[in-house]
Amino acid sequence: MTQMAIPRPSLPRGSNNGTHNRPRFNNPPRAVHNRSLLDQLPSFSRQEACDLCDANAFRLLSQRDRDGRPLDTVICEQCGLVCHAELPDPIGLTAYYQTAYRQQYHGQRAPRPHRVIRAWKAGRHYLKLLRPFLPAGGHLCEVGAGLGANVQAFSEAGFRAWGLEPGYDYASYARNVLRADVRLGQLDDLPPNECLDVVLLIHVIEHLRSPRAALHRIRGALRPWGLLYIECPDLSTPHSAPHRCFHPAHIYDFTSETLTRLALRCGFRVVHSFRSDAHVSVLLQRSDEQEPDQVGGGAARTLQGLNRFSR
Ligand SMILES: [Zn+2]
Repeated sequence: MTQMAIPRPSLPRGSNNGTHNRPRFNNPPRAVHNRSLLDQLPSFSRQEACDLCDANAFRLLSQRDRDGRPLDTVICEQCGLVCHAELPDPIGLTAYYQTAYRQQYHGQRAPRPHRVIRAWKAGRHYLKLLRPFLPAGGHLCEVGAGLGANVQAFSEAGFRAWGLEPGYDYASYARNVLRADVRLGQLDDLPPNECLDVVLLIHVIEHLRSPRAALHRIRGALRPWGLLYIECPDLSTPHSAPHRCFHPAHIYDFTSETLTRLALRCGFRVVHSFRSDAHVSVLLQRSDEQEPDQVGGGAARTLQGLNRFSR
């Protein structure tokens, strides 16, 4: 999706303690020898450790967003997680999604008809995709529910479905127009008492300051056998080839591997990975099994995926 006609989202920035040498290129070169490619990228240091593996050694992957505007993106040398070099201020980020995000990202505060129709179709899609895996009539919450079409689809299918949406305008539209049970709120407003059967996190995790903290929070809201569906852009697909990725509102750029490893680390197991040309699409289940940490070599694999489809 091109964003050329839309004002550039301006995330609130935290203090930038990063230092790096300026590279001579804006996007990764087209090398496929990934260890040497990693070595070619300039080192980058910052206060915050990697959200996935806690390492604190990064390389500067890109200095431009998908529209050619300045945006520093780094890759963790150990696990290969890709994220903005500078993490946003958490309080400012919350305020941004309450008020400014929809206007800046979609060019509108309330959804236009074509967006409502698209969301409605998406709700049917997710219901069809996930229903075979879910407990009939289960207690389901979507975090980042948007205008409520997914919540409405699952509710009409008999689920006890509701959603949390941080944006004032979309939450209001969901309640007042679509009559969906969407409440103004965010991840921290999930019930903490292990009462949910299912959580949906669809095109949300890439916007969060700490996906790891988010998954821990969701785990605490799920019953011991509870399910979590996550969908987000896949950095290693053709859709996200280097000249088309690095969106200013996407703090993290996941591959299937980095998202799965994060989930395993946060106490989930993979139930099913769905085929998708553009997205990581995975159903997880809360698990008490401790997965071995295997993050080494992840950076080379992320770069391999990123460069597979480069021009
Ligand atoms: Zn890492």
